Amino acid sequence: MTAVADGPGHVAILGAGPIGLDAALAFLDNGWSATVYESAASVAANVTAWSHIRLFTPWSMNASTRMLAHLDAAGVAPPGPASYCPTGGEFAQQLLRPLAALPELAPAIRSRTRVLAVAREGLLKHEKIGSPQRGSRPFRLLVSGPDDGERAEHADLLLDCTGSYDHANVLGDGGIPAPGELRVADRITRRLPDLRCDGDAWGGRRLLLVGAGKSAQTAARDLAELVAMWPGTRVVWAVRAADPGWGEIPDDPLPQRQQLVEMSQRLHSGTVPGVQVRTGVVVDALRGTDDGVVVALRSITGDVEEIVVDRIIALTGFLGDTTLYRQLQVHECYATAAPMNLSAALLAAAGDGPADCLAQASHGVDVLRVPEPNFFVLGMKSYGRNSNFLLRAGYEQVDEVASAYAGSTMPA
Ligand SMILES: Cc1cc2nc3c(=O)[nH]c(=O)nc-3n(C[C@H](O)[C@H](O)[C@H](O)COP(=O)(O)OP(=O)(O)OC[C@H]3O[C@@H](n4cnc5c(N)ncnc54)[C@H](O)[C@@H]3O)c2cc1C
Repeated sequence: MTAVADGPGHVAILGAGPIGLDAALAFLDNGWSATVYESAASVAANVTAWSHIRLFTPWSMNASTRMLAHLDAAGVAPPGPASYCPTGGEFAQQLLRPLAALPELAPAIRSRTRVLAVAREGLLKHEKIGSPQRGSRPFRLLVSGPDDGERAEHADLLLDCTGSYDHANVLGDGGIPAPGELRVADRITRRLPDLRCDGDAWGGRRLLLVGAGKSAQTAARDLAELVAMWPGTRVVWAVRAADPGWGEIPDDPLPQRQQLVEMSQRLHSGTVPGVQVRTGVVVDALRGTDDGVVVALRSITGDVEEIVVDRIIALTGFLGDTTLYRQLQVHECYATAAPMNLSAALLAAAGDGPADCLAQASHGVDVLRVPEPNFFVLGMKSYGRNSNFLLRAGYEQVDEVASAYAGSTMPA
């Protein structure tokens, strides 16, 4: 191993979201030196982008034991109460930013610094295939910022915790853009808008919501409120499944999550007015006109309905940027684009029905390994197209990887 640091080694952590920050604490605790690269101006950028959304998990599940221990040691009050579900804003403000300001962590964080690509110094992707010998060369990172400059930096261990929220899926049938979608991109928002705060921008307009997951369900709930507050607002909600189950978990222990399901059911059945739910439809094509965007919705039977809308909220899922590690040997699942071992474990655990993310058991560090030695994808990004990721699972991943590297010599 070509060490790039004194002590056990140097870990480069890509992304200062909750999982990246927890990973940094874990490795610093084990005597490693660490650099946390964050492309945004401050930590928790993706969480801050949905700061108006309330998490459906309570504080007891949103902070790791390690995070709480570090806050405690610094005399910083823990966030709480334990049963309270914070908003994204509260999560960032009361936990993630105080952690990032701790003297043991702050010097490791490089904000406004984007990692553009990672590789093995002196080795191409196809060389020494699947061999631990690749671990004898340091990782080489192409880094940009905080100014205009680019440079190469190095690490012994690499953790990709860059999340997926800034890489939204398109809305067209089959997962490719619908004809015309790219041309009307300025009318499409692919993040959860703050409809309560930005009512002026959305109220009184003709709106289309696409998607059926928890983000889309959250938007549907807020759109129903918007319709009640702003007369003249018209909302169509396009859902691909003919008979959506809304991901309902029997006897769901998370009330906030169950409330979203129940609201979606009520909107679907029409017992709550305001949102016209079209099930069993896909977006076939979009066309910008002077009057708005003409959207063709195609049903399973092939019938096409055209509607005209002013704006579209597309919440069809997210997938992290896998091109970042294209030069490394990462075996990706052909169905989910997540690292293969973890993806297989998640798919096997899910079976046929809606998977309860709360029921997920830890899979162990070997399931997190990829052919490239000493490289891990952790956090939200590690789940690929699987949307069941929970913070709690991410903190467990950090525990597993940090334990595997806790000794003074690096495993190959
Ligand atoms: C609306 C919403 C609600 C959610 N609610 C819950 C919930 O109730 N409970 C729960 O457990 N989970 C929830 N999740 C899922 C998950 O816990 C969060 O998405 C969480 O933020 C994931 O943490 P992360 O650290 O993996 O990634 P992120 O929080 O996405 O952090 C990634 C960081 O990497 C940075 N970055 C990206 N690319 C680069 C790069 N190339 N170089 C440097 N930095 C980069 C980003 O700026 C960001 O700061 C929710 C997710 C969403 C979107």
